[in-house]
Amino acid sequence: MTDQEKIHDVIGVGFGPSNLALAIALKERNAALDAIFLEAKDSFAWHPDMLLDNSDMQVSFIKDLVTLRNPASPYSFLSYLHAKGRMERFVNRKTFFPSRHEFNDYFTWAAAHHQDYCHYNQSVVRVAPVQGPNGAVELLDVVSEDPAGVQTRRRTRDLVLAVGGRPNVPEVFSELRGHPAVVHSSAYLSTVKPRLAASGRPLKVAVIGSGQSGAEIFWDLANDVARPEVDFIFRSHALKPSDDSPFVNEIFDAGFTSYVFNQPPQRRAAVLAEYANTNYSVVDGDLIEQIYGLFYEQDVVGGNSHALLRSTRVVAAESGPAPETGQHPQVELLLAPVEGGEELRCRYDLVILATGFRRRLGETLLAGLEEFLTGVETDRGYRIGTTAGFGPRIFLQGYSENTHGLSDTLLSVLPVRADEIASGLMSPRDKDRQLLTAAE
Ligand SMILES: Cc1cc2nc3c(=O)[nH]c(=O)nc-3n(C[C@H](O)[C@H](O)[C@H](O)COP(=O)(O)OP(=O)(O)OC[C@H]3O[C@@H](n4cnc5c(N)ncnc54)[C@H](O)[C@@H]3O)c2cc1C
Repeated sequence: MTDQEKIHDVIGVGFGPSNLALAIALKERNAALDAIFLEAKDSFAWHPDMLLDNSDMQVSFIKDLVTLRNPASPYSFLSYLHAKGRMERFVNRKTFFPSRHEFNDYFTWAAAHHQDYCHYNQSVVRVAPVQGPNGAVELLDVVSEDPAGVQTRRRTRDLVLAVGGRPNVPEVFSELRGHPAVVHSSAYLSTVKPRLAASGRPLKVAVIGSGQSGAEIFWDLANDVARPEVDFIFRSHALKPSDDSPFVNEIFDAGFTSYVFNQPPQRRAAVLAEYANTNYSVVDGDLIEQIYGLFYEQDVVGGNSHALLRSTRVVAAESGPAPETGQHPQVELLLAPVEGGEELRCRYDLVILATGFRRRLGETLLAGLEEFLTGVETDRGYRIGTTAGFGPRIFLQGYSENTHGLSDTLLSVLPVRADEIASGLMSPRDKDRQLLTAAE
């Protein structure tokens, strides 16, 4: 273990869009803080395994890393277009929604301007309290590991956690974690595509989940030159369109965050439920039409390569035999109609879980600090409550959906949230303590 002597003012864990937006906000506020960020990947990449060809952003380019906070920032999407010499051609496309490839390139460009802030190849494995002589926790030790397994301990006064979600693996697949034929959507491109290309025969693939990722993966597979045979399996009766109509879209306005936060818990939950169809288990309308058209055309020409197993749930999943010597084992799924009825046993070369992400505080690095946390919810400024005598301030990005609304796990309010957290980090510690005392 390498120990670094320096005490940082802030360590940010993760350098995805959320902490990148924070790095920029700190810079533009001229914050006199020693802030660094630790990122597990070897370079910036935004959901690299889902950078599918022909996939577009689901948020306007105006909702980039900075514009809502500072339209004059040099790190806006428009500044990026200008730097790349594509501004007029982008205008000619007449769209608010760049491709996912282009937005990832924008993020990467902005991250490159802030690489002094970030240490890549540093996967944080532990956060531990550091007690002062009087027993109070004054600092935090942040321990990270590089790909060779070398650990480094860094010390900080404050922490900002922006680590995204963890792949959600449904209970029925829990025994098959690590099975070579079971792949979460977050590993799609790097795992599935080489297998399709290397296989000498069309693979039999199941895609599970009726959200945007499931639909995109189904569409990508159905158009793959390796011609896999794909079963698209989901519990609902229909693929449903995401609601991005203008009145509804106002729930992603920055001002809506305070509205949600100021509601009593029951009302907050009702708001989340009412607008869940903007983000969860829904698909972009154009893609739904393309998929519908594909199945229609399959009927016309009499093919049966792909099947839509709607209103279907996976009852059991087991490892099956390897189809040929030297190949990895298949997976056998027991499928049942949701309304009950005859079960179906199917064997697949690959099962792709487009089953979303989990965001549970107890499963993050904060698990080691549980005894010092007073709850799982953040305050309006995204700071988690801590016990008296615990000095470090801990801010969370992307873990406050229940209290701050549906925009919390998305890009919609990124610059505004980053600015609020930057303001929290820059606020004097003493004043902070006084507030704590007043509240007590
Ligand atoms: C395929 C896909 C498409 C999406 N498209 C949109 C969209 O169009 N519009 C929209 O608003 N939202 C979209 N989202 C939602 C998405 O959550 C946000 O776009 C955004 O990625 C959130 O940024 P983040 O930095 O909070 O999290 P992430 O982007 O998940 O970044 C977290 C970072 O933390 C790093 N990390 C994790 N654990 C550690 C650790 N222990 N140590 C060090 N580093 C760590 C990860 O490597 C990662 O780089 C999409 C999500 C997916 C999966």
